[in-house]
Amino acid sequence: MPELPEVEGVVRQLRPVAEQKTITHVQLSETIYTSKEAGKECIVKVLAPHDFERMMTGMTITDVSRRAKYIYMTLTKDGRTYLLASHLGMSGAWFDVASIEDIPDAKYQKHAHAIFTLNNGRLLVFSDIRRFGELRLLQEAADYPPLLLMAPEPFDDDACAYFIEKTTLKKYANKPIKAVIMDGHIISGCGNIYATEALYLERIRPQTITHTLSDAQKRALFAQIVRILHESIEVGGSTISDYRNVNGEAGGMQHRLKMYGKKQCACGTATESLVIGGRTSVYCPNCQQ
Ligand SMILES: [Zn+2]
Repeated sequence: MPELPEVEGVVRQLRPVAEQKTITHVQLSETIYTSKEAGKECIVKVLAPHDFERMMTGMTITDVSRRAKYIYMTLTKDGRTYLLASHLGMSGAWFDVASIEDIPDAKYQKHAHAIFTLNNGRLLVFSDIRRFGELRLLQEAADYPPLLLMAPEPFDDDACAYFIEKTTLKKYANKPIKAVIMDGHIISGCGNIYATEALYLERIRPQTITHTLSDAQKRALFAQIVRILHESIEVGGSTISDYRNVNGEAGGMQHRLKMYGKKQCACGTATESLVIGGRTSVYCPNCQQ
């Protein structure tokens, strides 16, 4: 599942190919049409597929940015501004190609669900194998309130204080720390991979109840999360299972992970795992106390 560093990588690659381009044609997949007809919100949210195609046609992409794990495209058309919030879900990906056949992986070719033709003739393609991704066309972020409830960007000055304050609330204080740091209302963009790594490096077991940690431990943990997110952005993110970037390339962070997906810790001890908040959590019973 793409996490914050992977989404940041997609944004950085989309900027030069998408900004200041106008969408001249939009084609959604048969799967989206048939799913929507059956009452399922498949990828394109709220709007009917033909309305989405009609509204997106003629839009100029003025800016591409990231908020938590959302990709924001600011759009203008007929003097009005819109926001396309896209989420990669489990296996979504954007590609900048001359034709669908140029998408570097047959699976992603087959699961191309939204094809935007740009005024330079290239295609911006949203592919999604498992279809947990989303394309949500809004006038502004406030039109979809969950976007306003996300924690500050982890790199913002106030993000650590926000995190510590939230952890003292009753609904979080009695939860395992791993569930808390993976909650997007408390920290933006810290998924399973980076939560696992940060807890390992801070020698904290994932099941530790949040209120038993000192503020100093919480601050150190937060700083570790920020450091790992930065490191991962620098090396192009983690490529685990289906994730690919805009150019179909893999990232390099998966080679640097010390605990996520490991059967054995560097200290020689076999790792243990348990399920926290529905996600598998791996830790070293020797290094993490
Ligand atoms: Zn160990």
